[in-house]
Amino acid sequence: MKELDWANLSFGYMKTNWNLRISFKDGKWGEIEESNSEYVPMHIAATCLHYGQEAFEGLKAFRGKDGKVRVFRMEANAERLQSTCRATMMPELPTETFCKMVKRVIELNKEFIPPYESGASLYIRPLLIGTGAEVGVKPAQEYMFLIFVMPVGPYFKGGFSANAYALVRSYDRSAPLGMGKYKVGGNYAASLYAHNIAHEKGYGSEFYLDAKEKKYIDECGAANFIGIKGDKYITPKSESILPSITNKSLQQIAKDNGMTVECRPVPLEELNEMDEAGACGTAAVISPISRIDDIELGKSYVVAKDGKPGPVLTKLYNQLRAIQYGDAPDTHGWVTVLDI
Ligand SMILES: *Cc1c(COP(=O)(O)O)cnc(C)c1O
Repeated sequence: MKELDWANLSFGYMKTNWNLRISFKDGKWGEIEESNSEYVPMHIAATCLHYGQEAFEGLKAFRGKDGKVRVFRMEANAERLQSTCRATMMPELPTETFCKMVKRVIELNKEFIPPYESGASLYIRPLLIGTGAEVGVKPAQEYMFLIFVMPVGPYFKGGFSANAYALVRSYDRSAPLGMGKYKVGGNYAASLYAHNIAHEKGYGSEFYLDAKEKKYIDECGAANFIGIKGDKYITPKSESILPSITNKSLQQIAKDNGMTVECRPVPLEELNEMDEAGACGTAAVISPISRIDDIELGKSYVVAKDGKPGPVLTKLYNQLRAIQYGDAPDTHGWVTVLDI
């Protein structure tokens, strides 16, 4: 294989050697299959195509200075997928099978794991789809779970930096009693239009308030919100946001640092009192927020006066990355070390 320019990879699809698949049929999961095809043969009436019976996950593996490969919190991803399965009437994939497949797909594509020095990582994309044919609205009888991987570059190419967000009031990503807390593709389809508006106006991403009252902070595009106020780590409690594993991990690190974690509704106006704010998720760990522009009401909330990431989020970012790359001890048992 030609050596890839690891540090300049973007977040985009790239063909690797192998993907793994397992089918659910006659009420049970079959055998794990290794495939080098990038395609899935499918029935034209598959429920994933018509009614969005689909769930996905996203996690990463990192090559350490010691040459070992570390997978971050894959059991948590397995459990979140199971929660999505219950909500979408799909069969739950056992944690053991999920983890076995994650480890195997990494091993089969090990030459695509970026070297430590590059700051890049291997992104792992698990996907579960209803493949059984139904035209009446009901859950499929057959499913396929698959996993593929792709190397992704460091999120911050020019170094850790802050971005402005566009608050969109005319569009919601998810409803209070809807599917926002599950990782289903439909939520992303629902966000494309607002994302495009933000993008065309030059913002990195769109920013959502709660759909019911338009008063509280919900999510930063497809990432959770974190605010820092003194020694407090503040993050929204909401029925319409995705429970981010990165956010949970950062909350724990914040507590380890002696901070207080507040998980509660966060009024938009409280942004004026925040010392720092950021978006968090697997892709970036933390993406600091410089400013949030309420583009419809013509108001601005400047979080980082100098436009730069603040000290608390910078420290949390470095601490979590150090655990992922094996530079700091894994005191919470988050990392699975693979000797490949
Ligand atoms: C995946 C996702 C996140 C981030 O979750 P992580 O587990 O931290 O990667 C946040 N919000 C939405 C809407 C998501 O789909």
